[in-house]
Amino acid sequence: MEAKTEKLVIIGSGPAGLTAAIYGCRADLEPLVYMGTKYGGQLMLTSEVENFPGFPDPVLGPDLISKMKSQAERLGARLVQEDVVRVDFKKYPFEVYTGSGVTRALAVILATGANPRRLNMQSEMRLMGKGVSNCAVCDGFFFRGKKVAVVGGGDTAMEEATFLTKFASAVQVIHRRGELRASAALKKEAMANPKISFIWDSAVTEVLGDGRVQGARVKNLKTGAEKDVSLDGLFVAIGYDPNTEIFRGQVELDPKGYIAVRNGTESSVPGVFVAGDVHDFRYRQAITAAADGCKALLDAEKFVKQKLEVELVS
Ligand code: NAP
Repeated sequence: MEAKTEKLVIIGSGPAGLTAAIYGCRADLEPLVYMGTKYGGQLMLTSEVENFPGFPDPVLGPDLISKMKSQAERLGARLVQEDVVRVDFKKYPFEVYTGSGVTRALAVILATGANPRRLNMQSEMRLMGKGVSNCAVCDGFFFRGKKVAVVGGGDTAMEEATFLTKFASAVQVIHRRGELRASAALKKEAMANPKISFIWDSAVTEVLGDGRVQGARVKNLKTGAEKDVSLDGLFVAIGYDPNTEIFRGQVELDPKGYIAVRNGTESSVPGVFVAGDVHDFRYRQAITAAADGCKALLDAEKFVKQKLEVELVS
């Protein structure tokens, strides 16, 4: 017997996917959420979150996800801890494949997020949330009067460095080349800021510190010389990789691999909607991802309603 067609499948379980699930239950779409085996997204690697409204005291990133999950489950969402391995959006109903089989759906929301690129050092991961961060807007506040460094030379690195000068006493940008990749405006703003200095042609080879960041070992890539820089925080801003590999060839991606959206949350395929960091490289906040999840759901709801009305008439 063929399995029933779901009204809505959501792929992803960060704030975008879980908010879509919460709204989806209230819209009677009985959402099925493929959370991924490593569910929760970037918040699972975040320590204290102080800027999510409704939490007057800081909430730990994993606790925030756990609360969103519980809320979605209480409302009736089916949360499945499986990875989607393939999709076929050329067929309708759409097909979503996991290790345990295929699910058909009238509408799909893609909310698989993006992963910040890492320096790929053990010390970076050990001190993640203990002075190493990927988000100045989230964590900058904790570095009032402290010395920090930003790794990277793109727009994100310049924005983060400039933002951090609101709190930190000094911000050093460590960039692997002698020239910034960032756009002219962001570059100019950072270079004119008296709190920001640059360490050119250099890479971080080790994050230093036991329980918390105390510095970084920095290697000049031209001379090979290494020096230890004393720091309280290290912001890694070397770009993001959107989780879109399984959607390649199915929906339109932009040149950087993010899903291209139109009219708010629509992908290039009618009935496939998009929410959160998988398309949004600009804001990348838990709250903006959550808002996006809500918008994608409201658009998906209209789409599904129309499909069901057509089915009733025919
Ligand atoms: P990006 O443009 O890819 O820049 C990444 C930077 O990190 C580059 O300077 C790169 O060095 C460096 N890098 C990459 N891998 C590294 C490694 N393993 N070790 C050390 N350094 C490394 O990423 P992004 O700055 O996050 O920007 C992503 C996109 O979002 C861009 O299109 C950007 O324009 C956009 N964005 C726009 C705004 C805005 O308009 N306000 C703000 C943020 C982002 P190289 O230069 O040597 O390659």
